Amino acid sequence: MKTVQEPDIQKIRNDFPILSQKVYGKPLIYFDNAATTQKPQCVIDKISEMYSTTNANVHRGVHYLSQAATDEHEAARQTVREYLNATSSDEIVFTRGTTESINLVATSFCRTLCREGDEILITAMEHHSNIVPWQLQCEHYGLKLEVAPISAGGELIPEELEKKITPRTRLIAVTHISNVLGTVNPVSRIIEAAHRHDIPVLIDAAQSIQHRPVDVRAIDCDFLAFSSHKAYGPTGVGVLYGKEKWLDALPPYQGGGEMIASVSFRKTTYNRLPYKFEAGTPDYVGTAALATALRYITTLGLENIDRYERELYRYATGKLLTLPGLRILGNAADKSSVISFQAGNIHPYDMGTLLDRMGIAVRTGHHCAEPLMRELGVEGTVRVSLAIYNTREEVDQLINGIQQIFGMFR
Ligand code: PMP
Repeated sequence: MKTVQEPDIQKIRNDFPILSQKVYGKPLIYFDNAATTQKPQCVIDKISEMYSTTNANVHRGVHYLSQAATDEHEAARQTVREYLNATSSDEIVFTRGTTESINLVATSFCRTLCREGDEILITAMEHHSNIVPWQLQCEHYGLKLEVAPISAGGELIPEELEKKITPRTRLIAVTHISNVLGTVNPVSRIIEAAHRHDIPVLIDAAQSIQHRPVDVRAIDCDFLAFSSHKAYGPTGVGVLYGKEKWLDALPPYQGGGEMIASVSFRKTTYNRLPYKFEAGTPDYVGTAALATALRYITTLGLENIDRYERELYRYATGKLLTLPGLRILGNAADKSSVISFQAGNIHPYDMGTLLDRMGIAVRTGHHCAEPLMRELGVEGTVRVSLAIYNTREEVDQLINGIQQIFGMFR
């Protein structure tokens, strides 16, 4: 099998200044990439360049700087469009992140397209960001939140999900890749089934767009949400992709500048897509830097990233499974670079704290997926999540660290 060679990974690592840092005198090993990824120098430079040379409020200025900032911001929209293979940049709405993107759809969709007794269908493996926005609307409009179950191995069961579709189902919202289990969901199949009933589908792509090619036209999703900061881009920026016909059908989410066509005290009319959903000054520095991050990913090649991360994931899984008493949660046939485990009787918090002292950053706890934890019958896990800059040597250090901690507790 062709692999991305180690020297390339070393070169990639050199792009990320934070990775050369030491914590507690130990080289930093960063395995918390599902929470947020580190930033390559080109993204850091882009932020600095924007503030140093191209800072002015967008869209409303006739002056040079405002035009330049607007050009950067709108070029970023094009970059996102290309990255997702969306039909038009009018389908790309900039938000603050996955959470805001989902809240936007939940609020605007349920307000206009749902009636009391209607149902929203999600799955048992959703992040709180794809649960609570729907619950808020369900409470307000008397809707029901239905939940498709998962198997003991942490896989969605498409037949069971399809059984949950009723004449009252108005929307299905599902994560592409679980941030806890790494399960990759068969989104095309789910979308196909939903569309047979004319039901739109929202894909939470927070854990997928940085790992695998995602083509919104190929999977035919109606909405898709992701966060810049999990894809090597800056914090505070995200994207909502929506098919034009759906975005057109939804009312604005927030009111303010930018989202209007004209305002009077008697009646306000709204701007065209995508601006109708972008109230207030957008984070044009963030969007420009997000575009830089997406270009960085594209230059490395998502296929290469996917292939390398899968190999590293398999290596890490194999090594972890050799440790007696260590149990990995979720063994889906298709998994991405997230590994959640329990280490015997050692509390995840203790494991995380002791690994931290060795310079190894992992995440512990419920990972914003409390219902999934309940489903799995655990309070929390230790989560190792990989990115393109992680190496086999780092995995070996992790294994070494866990073995030492096992020794301490023996
Ligand atoms: N969905 C999933 C699957 C996630 O992993 C996360 C982040 N952990 C979110 C949604 C929320 O993303 P953000 O906090 O960037 O809005």
